[in-house]
Amino acid sequence: MTTHPSLTQIDRYAAGDPGLDEPSVWAIEVHLEDCADCRARLAGSSPVESRAVLDQVAAVLDRQIAAAPPVGRSRPWSVLRHRWFVGTLFPWLAMTAMVLGCAAVLGALWVGVPSLVLLIAPLAPLPGVAVAWHRRADPAWELIATTPAAGLTTLLRRTAAVLAFVIPALALVGAGTGVSMALLLLPCLAFTAATLLLGTLVGVRRAAIGLVVVWTLAVVTPSLVAARLPVLLSAQSARSWALATVFLTLLAFLRVDGFRRLSHPE
Ligand SMILES: [Zn+2]
Repeated sequence: MTTHPSLTQIDRYAAGDPGLDEPSVWAIEVHLEDCADCRARLAGSSPVESRAVLDQVAAVLDRQIAAAPPVGRSRPWSVLRHRWFVGTLFPWLAMTAMVLGCAAVLGALWVGVPSLVLLIAPLAPLPGVAVAWHRRADPAWELIATTPAAGLTTLLRRTAAVLAFVIPALALVGAGTGVSMALLLLPCLAFTAATLLLGTLVGVRRAAIGLVVVWTLAVVTPSLVAARLPVLLSAQSARSWALATVFLTLLAFLRVDGFRRLSHPE
């Protein structure tokens, strides 16, 4: 605790003396937060008019609090909606579903090209994960950022909500095309873990955009040009994808400190 301000300083602070410079005002305020004795001295040195105003405000507040309707208890669905989901995810999930649907339709119509669903499956959760916990995507970001559940907890909950939507959507779309479920779902989980891991370094949004660009340029485009699936998405790669998923998830958890900072790089 800082040293107690003198009674003269407290009197000048209470009277709003313009001669008291800003550093002194800050020092007194910081000290007052911790020192009950000085708060009591401050209350004693407030001018009579100030105390009258404070009493008036207290009386009005008491009346308004007594007259206010009781605070409603939050319902389970609203907990689910606020902690696990955010409305701004809707358009991104709808877009993901539409892209997957289009890929399935194109795959069915366009014979001779590799399965588009399989090629874009790893990227399916990334748009949702990118906006799951982002200051510009969440109108309540500032409010949530001040709570203990901010950062990793919120990001993981919303990522789980995104996966809870994307995985059944992928399974549904994939079921019609006859592609391997393991190759459809494992890369999707591995890319989600990779986004979270990279997100601790460069921000989740940048990580998602980077992975989408790299995968599109390095895998999707060459596969479409060559009209065959890459080795990465062949049946014998499923085990590597499983290992990669476990490894990336473990690494992401080891890097959780990256999300503890209130404003990690975005
Ligand atoms: Zn003090």
